Amino acid sequence: MSRLLGAIEAGGTKFVCTAAREDGEIVAETRLATAAPLETLKAAQQFFESVTDERGAWSALGIASFGPLDLRPSSPTYGRILGTPKLGWSGTDLISPFVRRFRCPVAIDTDVNAAALAESLQGAARGCESAIYVTVGTGIGGGVVVDGRTLKGLLHPEMGHIRVARHARDTGFAGVCPYHGDCLEGLASGPAIAARYGAPLERLPPGHEAFAVEAYYLGQLAVNVLLTLAPERVIFGGGVMSGEALLRETRAAAARLLNRYAGWGSDSAPLERLIVAPGLGGRSGIAGALALAQGALRAADR
Ligand code: ZN
Repeated sequence: MSRLLGAIEAGGTKFVCTAAREDGEIVAETRLATAAPLETLKAAQQFFESVTDERGAWSALGIASFGPLDLRPSSPTYGRILGTPKLGWSGTDLISPFVRRFRCPVAIDTDVNAAALAESLQGAARGCESAIYVTVGTGIGGGVVVDGRTLKGLLHPEMGHIRVARHARDTGFAGVCPYHGDCLEGLASGPAIAARYGAPLERLPPGHEAFAVEAYYLGQLAVNVLLTLAPERVIFGGGVMSGEALLRETRAAAARLLNRYAGWGSDSAPLERLIVAPGLGGRSGIAGALALAQGALRAADR
């Protein structure tokens, strides 16, 4: 009988919880609104308990979470959310409640690292050795996968908070990042767009200056990651990216900034192939959480 795997995509507004067979076939799924930590984690546990009542014990769980996270296995606070502006969630232990309750291996990574992993396994970066997944929504985050492993070190990539040059027509806005003001996230996240223009991007008319400003900032991120890590794909997902127009403008902005340096943007390496939309649509995160569970199961079998 195929073993049972659990996956959680832990987001700032919702938790997606999935139960799947070892081969990835989904058998149950639920979405929970993200409330206070104890309440939210308890609701997730209850979902997994309801599935085990019918289908037996869990073999492994994967958690793909918003961050920042402590991902150093040797750390006493491994698996906890670090300082976050999300009220009440700083210090929350995401792993122990599930390890204690279900007594199975639990793997954890950032939501964007997990999404990069899923896209490299079965999405827009399939067949690539390296890829970066960027989400542009309530926040901006980026994950990195190289040879099937996600990038982690002292912390993990936090490319939403890099500094970017200001667009010439975006001078008076202070930015919305509570830590840095006008970092990339402070200037180009969904809340930054709403604060500056009074509406989300999808409600602004085509040709509105907001598209060019946004694309200029995201184009800088694309160029910076291409120049520092040389990935084979830079995948842009998240709510703000939902229309094709912004992705097109982001590519164009990146091409202008690269100015054909090292062949990027030339005919041999067209940016249309390098800077792309997710192959898994909105499923990259939860598919990544499931891939983490599959990895934890393989490690436990060794
Ligand atoms: Zn910031």
